[in-house]
Formats: sequence, C-alpha cells, structure tokens
Amino acid sequence: MLSMMINRKINIYLLFITLGLFFDAFCQKNKGDLLVHKYKNQEEFYKPKDLTKDLSYIDGKVKNIIVMIGDGMGLSQIFSAMMANGGDLNLNKINVIGFSKTSSIDDIITDSAAGATAISTGEKTYNGAIGVDKDKKSLKTILEILEDRGFYTGLVSTSRITHATPASFIAHVESRKMYEDIALDFLDVDVDIVIGGGEDNFNQRKDKRDLLKEFENKNYNIVRNIKDLKTAKNDKKILALLGEKDLPRASYRDYSLSDLLNKSLEFLSEGDKGFFLMVEGSQIDWGGHANDLSYVIEDMLDFDRAIGEAMEFVAKNEETILIVTADHETGGLVIKDGSYEKGLVEGVFTSAKHTPVMVPVFAFGKSAYRFGGVYENTEIFKRLIKIIDM
Ligand code: MG
Ligand code: ZN
Repeated sequence: MLSMMINRKINIYLLFITLGLFFDAFCQKNKGDLLVHKYKNQEEFYKPKDLTKDLSYIDGKVKNIIVMIGDGMGLSQIFSAMMANGGDLNLNKINVIGFSKTSSIDDIITDSAAGATAISTGEKTYNGAIGVDKDKKSLKTILEILEDRGFYTGLVSTSRITHATPASFIAHVESRKMYEDIALDFLDVDVDIVIGGGEDNFNQRKDKRDLLKEFENKNYNIVRNIKDLKTAKNDKKILALLGEKDLPRASYRDYSLSDLLNKSLEFLSEGDKGFFLMVEGSQIDWGGHANDLSYVIEDMLDFDRAIGEAMEFVAKNEETILIVTADHETGGLVIKDGSYEKGLVEGVFTSAKHTPVMVPVFAFGKSAYRFGGVYENTEIFKRLIKIIDM
C-alpha cells in the first residue's frame, strides 16, 4: 500500500517535470532553432540608389552631420537584409567601413544607453547612463555642442523619443528608466526638429506638467500624426510625437523611416547654418531580443531605405558626412544559409540579449575616409568634432 502511494507520487512528479520541460521548450521555441525568412518576390526587391558622386576620400571641413544608428545592427542583421533583398542594399554602396568596439566602462556587453552616450559624448560610461559619466556628471553631447555653436539640430527615432538611444544625445540622467526626466531635458536644448513616439512622457506625467504646452510656448509646432508632419511649415521648431508610446514596427506602420528622415533633412537644410541630425532605426534591436528574424529584416530594410535617402542628400550637398553604425549587436544572430535569388534567409539566434562583438561603421561624404579602421565607439564623436573644427 505504502509503496503504491510512493509510486503514484513519483508518477505525478514525473508528469509535472515533463509538462515543465514542454512549457520551457515552448517559451524558448526560437532560441537555437533555425528560422527561415522569405521576404518578397524578386520583382519586389528594391534597387539601391545609384550615386556616382563620392567625396569620401577627399579631406575637408564638413558642415552637416547625419548619424544613423541601427540599434542592435551587427553584420548578420545587415547581411540577412541583404539576402532578403536579393543581395543588394544601399549600404553596399558605401566604400569606407570601420569597426567600432562597443564595451561600456564596466561591462564587455553594452546597453543602448552607454553605447549611445559613447557615440554622442566621446566618453565611456556605465550601462543605463544617459549623457552622464561614470560619476553621474553631465557630459556635453555633440548635438548640444553644435546647437550652442548655432547649428540646426534634429533627433528622429522609431521608439519613444525618450528611449535610451535618442535620449543619450540630449538628456543627462543617471538611469535610462527616468523617461519623464528625460522629456524635461528636451526643454533645455533648443533642438529644432524631434520626431518619435512617447507622447505620454510629455503630457501624462506624475508632476502633472503639460510639457506640450511648454514646448508650444517655446515656439514649437506640436505635431501628432504623419499627415500633419508632412505638411508642417518651417517657421517654427517641430516636436512630432507620432504615438503615445513606441512607434509601430516597420511592417505595421503606414509611413517609413525615409519619410521621417526626408522631412528632417528638408527642415534642417533650409538656410545655411549647418546641422546635426541623429536618426535611429530603433527596432532592429527589438527583433533581436524577440529572436524574430522577420522583425529584424523588415526593420533593417526600412533603415536601409532611409540610408539611401541620406546618401542622396550627401551626394547633392557636398559639405555633409553620413555615418551609419550601431550601438551593439543583439541576438547573437548567425546566418546559416539562404538564397539571393529567392530572397531567402536561414538564421539562428544564439542569445536573447546584446552581444559584445564589434559593429560596423559606414562613412559616406567628405572626410569619410577618416572612419576606416578598428577603434572604440568613443572615436566616432572625436573624429566628427575634428572634421567640424577643421
Ligand atoms: Mg535604441
Ligand atoms: Zn537591446
């Protein structure tokens, strides 16, 4: 009798263990599994911009800076998009390529806050830090430095505009989670055009302040949808918050990152002041965290199309440099097989987190050749300041 009871107990335990294993396997279904992405049919592949003019090997002072950050964009993310688009991307047309080592001050693996702060200020800091150093002291960002010197400035992101990457160019807080404090910091810098999500950090705040009113009083045009953004005039600064929280991923949006970038360039290039613009493809990273290959590829392609628009601007405006880079790689993505002809990609994620592998830096336009080589992420700031100061 006793042994029967023990046996039954063991059986129930075994049942729970088996169920537990199944549940585990279900939750991690993607990690380590081969994922296949079929993008589009051949006739739908887009052609990269055909640009003959390339001043990348000519030295000289630069007046306009466009920095494009693909969050989580490592080589595999780029290559998977390349395969999905039949073997070609706008990025393929950039000839100067370097590699950036992304570690933060206390960790070989950076987060997006320390990664973007290194790019925006030239200083390594701890993970989670927004525009502050290891002792939590404010660092001037390249956007603020150039704004002070009379340049036009802009920030574009497909996440909340208060999210780590864009925040690190304009805000100074000890933790990336302080979204409402980050929104306040936007008031202190006369940034000329801001486009992203995260409206709730501006008008549904614990301190009950309505920052949108305050921005209006500082001569900003508050824009809440893409239609109004496209027709917004240049007579006021623009704060475009296109969503209460993050913007939709690329395939769920009825506008592209190119739309946002083109509006910013049109706005910032009016007059002759020179400008600094940072544009982020935010969700390549989120596709990586989700181990969702199609998410990565679709947002990567949205980002690459915007890169093409930026390259066209550089080709027409000779005193401009374009830098395209990442803050880190996400997902430890490995491409195992695929086909250019079929736009087919077979890949495996080896992590749901960031990885420490170095990431590429593509540079296009006057003085771009200075961005070749292997260097720390902080060099991007230093080299940009150098070619502005020439
Ligand atoms: Mg980001
Ligand atoms: Zn991430």
